[in-house]
Amino acid sequence: MRILVINTGSSSIKYQLFDMERAVILASGLAERIGEEQSSLRHKAFIDGQERLGQYDRAIADHHQGLDLIVELLTAPGVGVITHKSDIDAVGHRVVHGGERFKAPCLIDEAVIAAIEENAALAPLHNPPNLVGVRVARQIFPQAAQVAVFDTAFHQTIPAEAFLYALPYELYQKHRVRRYGFHGTSHWYVTEQTALFLGRPVEELDIITVHLGNGASMAAVRGGRCIDTTMGLTPLEGLVMGTRSGDVDPALPFFLADQLGLGLKDIDRLLNKESGLKGLCGHNDMRQVIEASHNGDEKAATALAVYAYRIKKYIGAYLAALGRLDALVFTAGIGENAPQVRELCCRGLEGLGIAIDPARNLAPNHGPRLISPEGALVQVLVTPTNEELKIAQETRKLLNGGR
Ligand code: AMP
Repeated sequence: MRILVINTGSSSIKYQLFDMERAVILASGLAERIGEEQSSLRHKAFIDGQERLGQYDRAIADHHQGLDLIVELLTAPGVGVITHKSDIDAVGHRVVHGGERFKAPCLIDEAVIAAIEENAALAPLHNPPNLVGVRVARQIFPQAAQVAVFDTAFHQTIPAEAFLYALPYELYQKHRVRRYGFHGTSHWYVTEQTALFLGRPVEELDIITVHLGNGASMAAVRGGRCIDTTMGLTPLEGLVMGTRSGDVDPALPFFLADQLGLGLKDIDRLLNKESGLKGLCGHNDMRQVIEASHNGDEKAATALAVYAYRIKKYIGAYLAALGRLDALVFTAGIGENAPQVRELCCRGLEGLGIAIDPARNLAPNHGPRLISPEGALVQVLVTPTNEELKIAQETRKLLNGGR
């Protein structure tokens, strides 16, 4: 079974093609700046153990043309990995917001499209372009099953005490204002991979997953079911991120409006695009923050400390929510590649059974690996995430009747 996974943004399409029987990735790529004059499409095919690169650098008018060009590359001599687009059996779509309706991946039909559209108010920047991807893929691959895998679905097991804000109840009932959480596909994948690595049934494990990429979130997972997560109604809540503030005093916008005369759009931009690591030290890329901090930049060192302290606080909170802990798992760009950040997050937690072995922490990454000392109470791990593979696996499972 060949499954194409696509993640459609407002001006981009990210894709990966998997051969599920052989358990290999055949090709991946990214079309960017769709609708602009200088679009680009970078394609990578994996053929006979070698990477072959393909690209287009010309205007891509819309997502339909973008996906057409992706098909051209997937079938082109030299960089092609299939002979015809009908070789693709299914398309798995990343859909950001499934609201309360979608608790699991599902086959896409008209009713599902309408429901995703209904959730657009909850994710105005993401669901509409995700739907464009769904519509275009249905036109281009009419023979293929289309499956939606939602970023929010894994968090739908969170109980009311953790998902409700203490606001007038009507806001939840009538307007669906509550905490949803995001990055669910990553937390789900990493939870399962960690259980596999530890050789224990996921049902027996209490795990905290720490996804640290450009966006960042944590989840408390009991027996494979999420019971709390740091992102909320939107992906702004929770941890400090590249450009997002994470938790702030909810009264901050009033202060900014009263004292600085900022409007809603300014405040939105400030909290989402100008805060986080970037706001604290001028760099949103963790590699630059670490380098600047090594070079004696005090703001960068403080940004790192604020970043790690927020994570540490949530580790404590989730340890209390779970009542016990088997594994603490770091993942995504920063979680997988920045030993210094992992060390800072866990420093001083020895009393809670959480410790890091310095040599293990510095070892190179190969799949899931332990970074806690031998015999530690809590296993601390680095488990690489792979949201696209998880979407492909769930798509196949759905088509195979749950297997
Ligand atoms: P992601 O969104 O998962 O692709 O993660 C992006 C983040 O990972 C960026 O902040 C990068 O700076 C960070 N990152 C990637 N590689 C490293 C590295 N070797 N050390 C520190 N941060 C890294």
